[in-house]
Amino acid sequence: MRYFTGIDIGSTAIKITIIDENKELVGHKISASGSMFYKYAHQTLDDLMKELNIAKNDIAYTVATGYGRKLFKEADENISEITANAIGAVAAAKEYGEIKTIINIGGQDSKAISLDDMGNVVNFAMNDRCAAGTGKFLDACAMNLEIGVEELAHRHFSSKGTPLSINSTCAVFAESEIIGLLGNNHSVEDIVCGVHYSIAKRVIKLVKRVGIKEGIYFDGGPALNAGLVNAIENELGKKIFIPAYPQVTTSYGAAILGVDSYSYQNRE
Ligand code: ADP
Repeated sequence: MRYFTGIDIGSTAIKITIIDENKELVGHKISASGSMFYKYAHQTLDDLMKELNIAKNDIAYTVATGYGRKLFKEADENISEITANAIGAVAAAKEYGEIKTIINIGGQDSKAISLDDMGNVVNFAMNDRCAAGTGKFLDACAMNLEIGVEELAHRHFSSKGTPLSINSTCAVFAESEIIGLLGNNHSVEDIVCGVHYSIAKRVIKLVKRVGIKEGIYFDGGPALNAGLVNAIENELGKKIFIPAYPQVTTSYGAAILGVDSYSYQNRE
């Protein structure tokens, strides 16, 4: 059996996915990017291959993507995260139906991607200038509230009443605003809910730039947060699809492209 690797070196996390020649998911691994992307990407890949009992020679083709993709020189190819995200999303949602709009929230950016009927990217919009509306903002809020990001969803659903409004448009000021709300005796639950709605509003503005088409898919690490999903769905007034492994869609897409490139290069 031949295997194909997709390596997504993001600003916050390294995601590696290995698939087989039928494009079936074999395994994936996530680790922090840290300051030495290259070293950690290799380490993560070695660990994943060991876990799956796959030898180096069994890997036929490797595609790197993401912010740090050019640092992974051993890759056979590298592609933009927009393309990889689109390919991965269409494949991950094949049982769900057609995907026309992708919302991706990463560690330090957020994106909206619009697809045509064939799954090709027709337009995208990106916010990589401002931390508000990104995973970093959620990480900072969770830290200020002394909880982990994995606890945000539970806190969100425990909030009672109207979500608090977080008015600061800058992540740094929003942090001060959160500390002020705590000082005014608002509960962690109500603040978390307010943070989710403030991110949802920002993200929807971004999606409006490419047009909101039904068949909405949400991925990236923050899509693991069901509270944020709930806020985006309520603000949009539409259901959105979350794949089984939202943080690895882009690396999955890179691996799929690897199967196609390999088949093309080795055609009879
Ligand atoms: P990037 O590709 O830019 O490195 P990711 O898509 O990997 O970013 O997302 C990283 C973000 O995902 C983190 O900043 C964090 O806020 C969020 N995240 C990661 N794991 C979880 C989790 N279990 N629950 C909620 N949020 C999470």
